[in-house]
Amino acid sequence: MTMAGEHQSRRDIVHFGRMLHERGFIAACDGNLSVRLNKDRILVTPTGVSKGMMKPSDLVVVDTTGRRLKGRREVTSEIGMHLLIYRMRPDVGGIVHAHPRTATGFAAAGMALDQPLVCEVVIGLGSIPLAPYGTPGTPELAETLEPLVPQYDAILMANHGVVTYGVDLQSAYMKMETAEHFAQITLVTHMLGQQQLLASEDLEKLVAARSKYLGVNSAAPMPVPSCNGYGADGREIQVLRKGKAARTHAIPRQRGSAIQFES
Ligand SMILES: [Zn+2]
Repeated sequence: MTMAGEHQSRRDIVHFGRMLHERGFIAACDGNLSVRLNKDRILVTPTGVSKGMMKPSDLVVVDTTGRRLKGRREVTSEIGMHLLIYRMRPDVGGIVHAHPRTATGFAAAGMALDQPLVCEVVIGLGSIPLAPYGTPGTPELAETLEPLVPQYDAILMANHGVVTYGVDLQSAYMKMETAEHFAQITLVTHMLGQQQLLASEDLEKLVAARSKYLGVNSAAPMPVPSCNGYGADGREIQVLRKGKAARTHAIPRQRGSAIQFES
């Protein structure tokens, strides 16, 4: 990437960091963002700084092992998670990690966002799985994400937060908004005590439609309607379903990544 490209990436990280802060997706010095500058260099946020109040010069450039190449500040303690995602997903150009209230609430309740409730979410993300808890700032955190990274573009991290990634930083940020918005909608279905899941034939049409949407590059499996919905307070939720149950099958990622079908 050229110097002009790096300057633009610095501005993008400052911009989307401010948006995360303004939307209440992070508090204090939480969260981190990164951009892949080229195959050996990653631009990433520092530790100990509010992501709502950064300057472009606060950012740090590291190599693919996390060693600092440029910048005065200390790199985020979650650099291992960013490096893992860039290593496993050559298609990814930007990563956002935040603690949005509702999605993090689901992660703290031990609940994935994997019910087929909203068509746009099925197209864009498939479903949002829950990774087991891993201590922040240790290799354990990246290890818990590893099995999920190849297929999913948005992951809940148990008792912690959410990570999203995409072809560029804007796409990663948009997925964070989608994940939090979907968590809010799912919470409302819990409050109403009822969920009407998309039928498998409708899910299949959404799979077919996925390739038409620009920027949709997820290989996430279609959400599979589970038999037992349960409410936030342990009450049973009434699950209404049309048609036959859907099969689990990952959707081929565009641009030739792993294709996996499990019927
Ligand atoms: Zn975090």
